[in-house]
Amino acid sequence: MPIRVLSEEVASQIAAGEVVERPSSVVKELVENSIDAGASDIRVETRAGGKQFIRVTDDGCGVPAAEVELAFHRHSTSKLTTADDLARITTLGFRGEALASIAAVSRVTLVTRAADEPVGTLLRLEGGQMVTRQESGRPPGTAVTVEDLFFNVPARRKFLRSERTERRHIDAWLTRYAMAYPRLRFTLSHDGRAVFQSPGNDRLRDVLVTVHGLEVGAAVLEIIPDVQHLTSSVDHPASDIQVTGFVSPPSLHRANRGYITLFVNGRWVSDTRLTYAVTQAYHTLLPTKRYPLAVVMVHLPPEDVDVNVHPAKAEVRFRDGDAVFRAVQKAVRRTLLERSPVPVATRPPTAWPVSPARWREEQEERLTRLRLQPAGEQLRFEERPPGVTAPSGGILVPSAERLPPLRVVGQLGATYIVAEGPEGMYLIDQHAAHERVLFEQLLAERERAGVTSQALLEPQPVELTSETASLLEEHLEALGSLGFQMEPFGGTTMLVRALPAITVETAPRRVLEDVAAALEAGDVPLAGTVEEAVARQVCKRAAIKAGQVMTQAEMEELVRMLEQCASPRTCPHGRPTMIHLSVEQLAREFGRGNG
Ligand code: ADP
Ligand code: MG
Repeated sequence: MPIRVLSEEVASQIAAGEVVERPSSVVKELVENSIDAGASDIRVETRAGGKQFIRVTDDGCGVPAAEVELAFHRHSTSKLTTADDLARITTLGFRGEALASIAAVSRVTLVTRAADEPVGTLLRLEGGQMVTRQESGRPPGTAVTVEDLFFNVPARRKFLRSERTERRHIDAWLTRYAMAYPRLRFTLSHDGRAVFQSPGNDRLRDVLVTVHGLEVGAAVLEIIPDVQHLTSSVDHPASDIQVTGFVSPPSLHRANRGYITLFVNGRWVSDTRLTYAVTQAYHTLLPTKRYPLAVVMVHLPPEDVDVNVHPAKAEVRFRDGDAVFRAVQKAVRRTLLERSPVPVATRPPTAWPVSPARWREEQEERLTRLRLQPAGEQLRFEERPPGVTAPSGGILVPSAERLPPLRVVGQLGATYIVAEGPEGMYLIDQHAAHERVLFEQLLAERERAGVTSQALLEPQPVELTSETASLLEEHLEALGSLGFQMEPFGGTTMLVRALPAITVETAPRRVLEDVAAALEAGDVPLAGTVEEAVARQVCKRAAIKAGQVMTQAEMEELVRMLEQCASPRTCPHGRPTMIHLSVEQLAREFGRGNG
């Protein structure tokens, strides 16, 4: 085929595809426009998961009658003029693409009135072509209605998922913006049914209550405000970076990272590095394979962040990414140390009423008890004395790495095993190591034995969020084979008849929420619950305690078994089983540099 310039129609559909991937992208762009317009009340209505109908109504500044048509032209925006402005974006939109893209692939009706104009305008477009324009009465503000999304792009329409999946994506975007802008009131309804409303009282904690429920809303810790300085250079004066938001205490955790929500200057971002900064701050505080819930807002001067990376604007680049990483990690860690109800480390008593080893063991048992409490249960905690810092994570290595063969050198204080390997010296906590070994053995036994289901005395209706209910409905059959017996019971309620035996001690609602979270992340449901149950068993069985003298043969046996473990470097409760000093570190400590 000869080279040809694409028709205007095809070119605009290709461009639209980058911005409008699915109904939730439309919701996201329209809500961003409402926020940029200074609205305080934003209402979203959808039908058929947004495939048929989406309407976003706001009480913002409106579009002046003279500009309504211009708003639908590609690259037309009121938010920036010069290339210089691009380096200092303070609005959510700036590319001038959203309305043009949405209009190209749907039937759009805009009704808007600028605050200082007496009458509003109605404009209707189909596949990007204007079909109607007339005057229209409405209060100041804007309503955009998008119907029959992708009516003219059958290829795209085919790839849309089920209505409930599309609804879930819309729910996710709306709750994100409700968290990012607690000052604004967001309302969402699907098919005429109200599903979400944020209070709009400028309190993020209250938004979290509406999104995650009362228990979570009450338990989360407010990040201690902290300002970090960004580096300065010749063409960049020093500037500040601020981290705010809420994080879960270590006693509250989830089966995947999906509950870590990040915003940069009011924009939701997907950033694996910053997500890692958050999880890293919980290092050794959470059981393995469990993740915190966090809403973290990073504020920094707009010229220090590049938001113009992708048409959907979900990725950003920082001028000084390391500084942002450190600021997030530090703020979260400090909040956990100072505000966490779980004592992270406790000062040993000055006079020893018990042996140091016994004391340490008691602390460990207490921590274990606290960590394994189901989230939200009322506990009384001891205050952590001021000035005590948690062990630094610097010399610990990722827990999932297998161990090299180790040679046992000897025992230290009847508590630690000293060993050496090709990579240097290992100081192994004998009790924690034994717990890890037992844990993996018991887990394997359980897997071989298979699942058992236990019927409830009476079928129990459990009310869930629409997101959770729809996920479970999609996987009813697969869950059956795991020991779940339940059926949809109208609305977002499930009637539960039987549950896997392992979950009977947990509230059915929490079980179902965890299962939904695992499904969403593509994990095996209940893997976390099984691990917690096994971890409890391990505590009862662990034979080797601190303070127990071990023979060389016993130590070698324990180290051999640890080498077989899949995650040898943490105990089942997430604490380290060992400290590793590499050959390089040892050389550095002794001043044996390169010279
Ligand atoms: P961008 O948001 O990147 O500027 P859009 O295509 O989303 O591009 O919108 C184009 C323009 O239309 C905006 O710059 C703004 O001036 C106007 N606009 C869109 N939605 C609204 C709204 N809800 N209220 C007021 N003005 C709006
Ligand atoms: Mg926009």
